[in-house]
Amino acid sequence: MTGVESHRFDNGDTMPMLGLGTWQSEPGVVAGVVADAIGLGYRHIDCAHVYGNEAEIGPAITDALADGVVSREDLWVTSKLWNNAHAREDVLPALENTLNDLGLEYLDLYHIHWPVAQPRDVLFPQSGQDLVALEERPLRETWQAMEVAVERGLTRHIGVSNFSAKKIEHLREEARVAPEVLQVELHPYLQQNALLEYCRSRGMFVTAYSPLGSPSRPERLVVEGEPMLLEDPAVIDIADRHAATPGQVLIAWALARGTSVIPKTVRPERLRENRAACEHSLSVADMDRIGSLDRHRRYITGDFWAKDGSPYSVKELWDE
Ligand code: NAP
Repeated sequence: MTGVESHRFDNGDTMPMLGLGTWQSEPGVVAGVVADAIGLGYRHIDCAHVYGNEAEIGPAITDALADGVVSREDLWVTSKLWNNAHAREDVLPALENTLNDLGLEYLDLYHIHWPVAQPRDVLFPQSGQDLVALEERPLRETWQAMEVAVERGLTRHIGVSNFSAKKIEHLREEARVAPEVLQVELHPYLQQNALLEYCRSRGMFVTAYSPLGSPSRPERLVVEGEPMLLEDPAVIDIADRHAATPGQVLIAWALARGTSVIPKTVRPERLRENRAACEHSLSVADMDRIGSLDRHRRYITGDFWAKDGSPYSVKELWDE
């Protein structure tokens, strides 16, 4: 890779900057994809309980470890605590469940997936009543259990996802272990420079999700006529001039900003393509041109937490 290949944490652990996303990588397919990815040199896999495929990713990782393709120390595995396990007593069992599915003794990184709480028996809220207000289930309490997970060696690092600077700052006030990583949507249409700057000022590392604009996310999350990042004329033009693909330009851009990046694919040729993005360096002019594309456009708006009767609103979710 050009530039920095890994981010080094204070304890010496290193997170590879390029990872593999696994949201919507279907059971039946995902094990082969993870095996291929590890074979091709991917050393960072981004998982989550709610993706419903950790039990298939686990055996692929176990086989790669058993076959000596990679050592546990060289692999970085992230997962995320789902919204229905925010209660203090539910956090460690949820993490243990994920570890069991993934066939691991510890995670490298465990995130709170969303700053949103649900009752234990609700996987996806169908109505506003299926959500629990943060006043009732404070993030501080969830975080305290995440801290215990680190102390018990169940995860080496803990972080948050989809949190605003305001929510992170609030969490930090009482945290014994400060959140080390923020995973959030980041791409040229949603550059979030202020949030990135805030994280840097607090020594937090940032992972960019949906770096390609999440083109095949579920239909219910798609807005008709929305701008397609991979079809942006400037991105295509820069790609042509580098003999690269638009996807590679978007990944190279994320890496050049110093964020780790986790594009999802289930296709072997794109696993190769995305990994080769690390070989392309963008010029200052390219970076400036892409910098001008920002339109604060979220593909994952979080409006699914703001159904009628919900204690959450999109405005308060992002604090903007
Ligand atoms: P993404 O990585 O921006 O886009 C993935 C889509 O792009 C897939 O449909 C994939 O199709 C296609 N694709 C992959 N490589 C391509 C290339 N080189 N050229 C053209 N198309 C390409 O979207 P995402 O899945 O939303 O985000 C990535 C990962 O971030 C997720 O998988 C997940 O791990 C994480 N994430 C986290 C959160 C969170 O709340 N923390 C939210 C969203 C995502 P094929 O599979 O057919 O190649």
